[in-house]
Amino acid sequence: MKNKVLSINHLKKSYHDKKSEIKALDDINFDVYEKEFISIVGPSGCGKSTILSILSMLEEKSGGTFSLDKDATIGYMLQEDSLFFWRTILDNCLIGLEVTNKLNEENKNYVLNLLKTYGLYEFKDKYPSSLSGGMRQRVALIRTLAIKPDILLLDEPMSALDYQSRLAISDDIYKIIKNEGKTAIMVTHDIAEAISMSDRVIVLTKRPAKVKKIYEIKLSNKSTPINNRKCKEFSTYYDTIWRDLDVHI
Ligand code: ADP
Ligand code: MG
Repeated sequence: MKNKVLSINHLKKSYHDKKSEIKALDDINFDVYEKEFISIVGPSGCGKSTILSILSMLEEKSGGTFSLDKDATIGYMLQEDSLFFWRTILDNCLIGLEVTNKLNEENKNYVLNLLKTYGLYEFKDKYPSSLSGGMRQRVALIRTLAIKPDILLLDEPMSALDYQSRLAISDDIYKIIKNEGKTAIMVTHDIAEAISMSDRVIVLTKRPAKVKKIYEIKLSNKSTPINNRKCKEFSTYYDTIWRDLDVHI
């Protein structure tokens, strides 16, 4: 059995403004194991991003607990690539090291090596505007990897891309995460993306979110996300999760 790196128990979150309370998370429970790829799917507005915001300490929880394995660190890749247009690709990738005062020769070389390994080295002195959407997402991922987090949180990392790019970049992102030996928790509203990339898919109810189902994705001939879509079990998982989401058109 693999090591448990994160345990979430009865997590709750309500947002308050002057007049009202919005209950976003009702009762979230799940564990994450080392090097697992987990996807969280659920109806729009149900509280998916809220879970990631709490785990990365950007928001405070209203109840429940979550515990990280000792020394485990978290890196958060936001929904938009949010690269700074006035900084070069390399300087964008170094920003996390700068703000945490960890920019030294060794860490800079680590980033340069990531850029080399993932086909971005020749663009290191260019600006984000000269890169395609898919390349910018890879830069955003490398920027997140630069601080060497154990667990990566990804919020709809492909949602701003067109369908073809989304397929290609989901393969890229998957390979980078596996190569680097990271644990990943990805939020998405795309059921196919979730099944094709994940070891487990967590399905949430509509707001306030509870965990409705957790699926272990077992595919024969499991390989890359694009190829996983062709596995014979794929459509059964798709139909089942689609029904869980109870989307009325
Ligand atoms: P999802 O990512 O599943 O689409 P979110 O986690 O972003 O959903 O939001 C869940 C609910 O909480 C939504 O109703 C949203 O409007 C509300 N919400 C999210 N962030 C805030 C905030 N900072 N202040 C008030 N309400 C918020
Ligand atoms: Mg969201």
